[in-house]
Amino acid sequence: MSFERLGLSAPLLRAVAEAGYREPTPIQRAAIGPALAGKDIVGCAQTGTGKTAAFALPVLQALDASAEDDPKIRALVLSPTRELAAQIGECFGTYGKHLDLWHTVIFGGVSEGPQIKALRDGIDILVATPGRLLDLMRRGFVDLRSVEVFVLDEADHMLDMGFLPDVRRIVAALPVRRQNLLFSATMPPEIRGLAEGLLHEPVSVGVEVVSKPVELIEQKLYFVDKADKPKLLLDLLRERGVERSLVFSRTKHGANRVVQFLDKSGVRSAAIHGNKSQNARTRALDAFKRGELSVLVATDIAARGIDIDGVSHVINFDLPNIPETYVHRIGRTARAGASGIALSMCDAEEHEFLADIEKLIGRKLERVDEHPFPASQAAMPAANARPGGRPGSSGGRRPGGGPPRRGGGGGGGGRGGSPRRR
Ligand code: AMP
Repeated sequence: MSFERLGLSAPLLRAVAEAGYREPTPIQRAAIGPALAGKDIVGCAQTGTGKTAAFALPVLQALDASAEDDPKIRALVLSPTRELAAQIGECFGTYGKHLDLWHTVIFGGVSEGPQIKALRDGIDILVATPGRLLDLMRRGFVDLRSVEVFVLDEADHMLDMGFLPDVRRIVAALPVRRQNLLFSATMPPEIRGLAEGLLHEPVSVGVEVVSKPVELIEQKLYFVDKADKPKLLLDLLRERGVERSLVFSRTKHGANRVVQFLDKSGVRSAAIHGNKSQNARTRALDAFKRGELSVLVATDIAARGIDIDGVSHVINFDLPNIPETYVHRIGRTARAGASGIALSMCDAEEHEFLADIEKLIGRKLERVDEHPFPASQAAMPAANARPGGRPGSSGGRRPGGGPPRRGGGGGGGGRGGSPRRR
């Protein structure tokens, strides 16, 4: 099916063609038609499926059809993180380049001056994180009374980050008559409840069930002692011809330590996490996108939603304690149909996390037994213990002593402030 058949207008078709998209992704095929018809949508889709265009294109078309000389905020997009908000803003710029609509992005952590100026100058589309938006609303800088379309992106992530009360406050300031588009990678009961209160006879579009990781991703598992993880990482990066890899660490300190180790070993990398300034994060991301850095080390919150094409490998330096996070992580490779590789390390404290992940995805990750840093017996789960396993350097460590299964959140707020732009 082509984009033309979805009913998109000529300027949008041109922009999409210029972006190099040849045909719509499944979520775009499913969502664009009903969204153009003004329906509410609940979309179950992970990042990487093309969901941003699935909502941005219909929003742009609806606003363009009734554009006025004096711009008012007629579409509001809420995003949980600054990076995702910035990226959504870029997408509106890309897809709306042939239209006369203005958008801006607001998030916390950066100077509010340019954001307030953009709001004063007048915009049609506002992309925002909840914290800064509420702050500017309370101080009278944002008027949401003309909003016609409301998009809530990554609703489950909003929940994880404790933003749902803020989201509800913002929704209460919107006109009752409006179109709602809600996207979430998973549908926990809280999000279902939110959706029921928010949406009117929604069309449900679900493309990628979260428990089914992208089929194209090759997933491998390395049992290793915790102390050997940095060396194994280096080996994987060198031996497997890794071009552009995103390495996940459960903690900010862990991410910093990995970067320091790689640095000493002559591999250029950078960390992105909540303790880094927005400028440092943007610089790291840009250097990675330009190919100046081949390794980006990220925590889950920092990485979620960031859009990087061409990631050849996702490496899980730590296994996540929430199994869905594994699916989100590995979805960062193999984006929009490309193939990718996900390599995961598992130490003695992570067996339980591994079991949860394999239960969620419904299969065993492929074990790589032959590698230079095989785990000691103690770091192998009972079913995988090899007769010749290396004698235990990590001796009697018991599985399950790792971090709590949920939590570790933080990093919230938003950040932002791209100036008013098309
Ligand atoms: P998203 O899920 O919105 O973060 O999109 C993931 C990536 O897919 C982004 O890099 C988009 O530029 C890209 N993309 C979105 N739609 C298409 C399409 N129809 N064809 C090719 N790439 C696409």
